[in-house]
Amino acid sequence: MKITLPHVNTAWVPLKTFFDKHVVECIVPPKNSNLTLTLGAGHSPDGLCVPYKILLGNMIQALELGADTVIDVSGPGLCRLGYYAMLHESALRDLGFKFKFLVFDWQEEQIIGIVKFLRRLVGGEKISWAKVVGDVKFGIQQLILLDDLQKRVHHIRARELTLGASTQVWHNADLRVSKAQSPGDLRRVRKELFSELNAIPINKDSKPLRVHILGEFYMVLEPFANMELEEELGKRGVEVTRAHYWTDWCKIWLFLELIGMSHGRKVKKTADPYLRIDVSGHAQQTVGETILHQKEGYDGVIQVLPFTCMPEIVAQNIMPKVTRDYQIPMLSLIFDEQTGKASFLTRLEAFIDLMEHRRSQRTAVSA
Ligand code: SF4
Repeated sequence: MKITLPHVNTAWVPLKTFFDKHVVECIVPPKNSNLTLTLGAGHSPDGLCVPYKILLGNMIQALELGADTVIDVSGPGLCRLGYYAMLHESALRDLGFKFKFLVFDWQEEQIIGIVKFLRRLVGGEKISWAKVVGDVKFGIQQLILLDDLQKRVHHIRARELTLGASTQVWHNADLRVSKAQSPGDLRRVRKELFSELNAIPINKDSKPLRVHILGEFYMVLEPFANMELEEELGKRGVEVTRAHYWTDWCKIWLFLELIGMSHGRKVKKTADPYLRIDVSGHAQQTVGETILHQKEGYDGVIQVLPFTCMPEIVAQNIMPKVTRDYQIPMLSLIFDEQTGKASFLTRLEAFIDLMEHRRSQRTAVSA
């Protein structure tokens, strides 16, 4: 069996390590690129959202590299995510590929479901539960490390004296973490990566603009899909935080849901006067977090969404009222198959100018 799964930020790391530990060949698709998107878009219905197309491109590239088993995700919901797996499979079969297609629905049995699913893939009854649970736990520790690193990079990038120094460390961090096979290895890699980051000279007195990135899950997480938004902001001296991290996702969807605990109560309550019902995706989170981040003194929020994404379009239409009521600048960036960066950067720079202007006005008033 030669297994593959599409890219979503750093998710490939724990899965590749897991399969390596069980001597199952895992073919990680090449990093997302224009070729990935072109391949996916060329075999997708026009109106489908961009994440669907990039994921399809990943699958095509991995099958061309020899994969024979594809993992895809599914889940109930009001948006198109529930159709992704069915449509991906049929597009790939129409292209003539021969493969086994496995669908994982994380909302069925949460962490128990993922452990059962992975155990089945690597040998079923022959592998002990304890071994699989231990390896899944190790994968979560890899994700925690990668998320901690990303947060540190966001802090340093906006203050570093040599532009690009933190990005250089980050760019091969996933590969280095993927090679760790034991808790001892992981501790060593953590120490090495953090000391490389902490050795980067920064301007300690700088007070960079702070922006929160929110919106559709995949677009927030996947740098290729959002045109390296975090990096572009960091290069321009803006510190970012973001609404989605894999570790938060694991906490909510693999653990809290399992024990029936409601999650995001504060965010939903905050969004309530503007958007009371769940319209799927992260629409309520987009509204609620905008308000909460204004209260925390952020200079602005950026919503990222794919063209035709129903939940985020609902949020986008509500946001003018929210931003007026709470006086926080907001930029909505809609991504599709166009990969030209010039107009995107122009909008970003205009938004940064706006936030700087507002900050200087606020400082003048309070002086
Ligand atoms: S949330 Fe939006 S982009 Fe994501 S699957 Fe649903 S419709 Fe597509």
